[in-house]
Amino acid sequence: MHHFSFSSSPSEPFIEFTTRIRDSPFKNRLNQLTIGTTVKIATVSGQFTVTEEMKKIVFVCGGIGITTTRSNIKWILDSHSHVDIILLYGNRDANNIAFKGELEHISEDNFKIFHILSDPEEGWDGPKGFINAEFISSSVLDLTDRIWFISGPPVMVKSIKTILTTVLNITEGKVKTENYVGY
Ligand SMILES: Cc1cc2nc3c(=O)[nH]c(=O)nc-3n(C[C@H](O)[C@H](O)[C@H](O)COP(=O)(O)OP(=O)(O)OC[C@H]3O[C@@H](n4cnc5c(N)ncnc54)[C@H](O)[C@@H]3O)c2cc1C
Repeated sequence: MHHFSFSSSPSEPFIEFTTRIRDSPFKNRLNQLTIGTTVKIATVSGQFTVTEEMKKIVFVCGGIGITTTRSNIKWILDSHSHVDIILLYGNRDANNIAFKGELEHISEDNFKIFHILSDPEEGWDGPKGFINAEFISSSVLDLTDRIWFISGPPVMVKSIKTILTTVLNITEGKVKTENYVGY
């Protein structure tokens, strides 16, 4: 049994989960399943959701931590909510950017995306390294006006929450986190 976040939105006529296949017994088994296999979903829980009073949001994601954010962004854009969204997305290299094509094709005025790569291929001229205070403050100019959603590996979530609350003066009540325990 593993936890998974919805990557689909309630505006879509299906339920979708997204993972990275790596060499673990669970993932190997998952990769071998054929279409039509029955799986059990034990329960649905969580509070990593955008509510109506939130008008300016930043999603900060590491790697596959994008899943729940993709669901939230798709829902906001499909329901034509006037929410101003910034996505800060950290990955190892460009090949590891999940939903890359889809995210690049969102041309709504209320959505901006900034990538940072820790081990980029040659030719990458964007920001390099892990998500840090400098990258955050140069991408988001109205830091304290926004609600922050951080999702990804627990080490990354903890480090970004510390940067936001201790270096960038964002109050803890404005920061929501989702820890992908297991990464
Ligand atoms: C709220 C939440 C949401 C999540 N959403 C997603 C999602 O949308 N997509 C996604 O891909 N993942 C998500 N995850 C993570 C997911 O549940 C898995 O943990 C992850 O995919 C790793 O699975 P794995 O089979 O590759 O690794 P596993 O084999 O399960 O290993 C996970 C970790 O446990 C350690 N471990 C494994 N077996 C043992 C053992 N016997 N003793 C000690 N340590 C062990 C491993 O070294 C590794 O660090 C989420 C997790 C949480 C908690």
